Amino acid sequence: MKPNIRTRTVSATVPGRRADENRSFGDRYCKGTCVLSIRIPPDSTGRDLCKTCGKKFLPRSLMPGSGMRNYQSEDFYMCGIIGFSGYERATDVLLAGLSALEYRGYDSAGISCFTKDGAITTIKSVGKVSELKALVPGELASGCGIGHTRWATHGGVSRENAHPHACGRVTLIHNGIIENYLPLRDELTSDGRIPVSETDSEVAAMLLDSLYEGDAHAAIAAAAARLEGAYAFCILFSDQPGKIYCIRKGSPLVACQTEAGSIIASDMVALLRYSKDYFVLEENVVACLTRDGITLAALDGT
Ligand code: GLU
Repeated sequence: MKPNIRTRTVSATVPGRRADENRSFGDRYCKGTCVLSIRIPPDSTGRDLCKTCGKKFLPRSLMPGSGMRNYQSEDFYMCGIIGFSGYERATDVLLAGLSALEYRGYDSAGISCFTKDGAITTIKSVGKVSELKALVPGELASGCGIGHTRWATHGGVSRENAHPHACGRVTLIHNGIIENYLPLRDELTSDGRIPVSETDSEVAAMLLDSLYEGDAHAAIAAAAARLEGAYAFCILFSDQPGKIYCIRKGSPLVACQTEAGSIIASDMVALLRYSKDYFVLEENVVACLTRDGITLAALDGT
């Protein structure tokens, strides 16, 4: 059954959520049960692991107000996500965003962009964002795309395992861990979909492709009901050029709308070049970015 979708459009300014009010790179938190406060330079490119629990830090800058400080139950996976739909050259925005996110640490990077003819071009590489940049053709004209820096959790460091991952009409990037990816992969493989990577993330692309019948929201809602774990996704559907669908659970996503277009990222440092106004995407809400705005729709249609 298709959910009853209500939408609302977000203005560029969200009261109380100005990016410059709580920007603080110095204090790095792990999670509620393991709060540390140490000094790490803002340009640190090290893999910032909590010395107590071994997990990645959650920068204080991403905590949406004091409520987040009571956040006890979830782990955060802190590699980089950027999505852009707008009036500037998408490859420039994505690569600049990925460079801004480099401080989190990563092992590989990739982008996918809609090209002028509506096709999706994907470029991935192991290593630095500068190495990815060298592979991006100067003539790649696009106003919409997604970019990712990966911190491998499932599968080795390889070009195949780098994001974005594609299956059928779905291309996505993912931060987090899909805990039930093995049974899902078995199920979807027996349906005839062949994974090309070792990642849990590709299984989410396979699942979405299996559920997509032209209604992105319905497919995302059905997929979310089956995925266990933590995720932030930015998703392209090949028959919907210019649109980026996003959803998160446990992993952060922040977004803003500017004159240049709509931008979403896993950390507001990637947005600051365009705007100091951003909002935190709530869980159980699907965001759809187009060049003219961001539409939000509750997952359950409420
Ligand atoms: N679990 C995914 C992978 O290993 C995403 C890792 C990440 O958050 O970068 O590819």
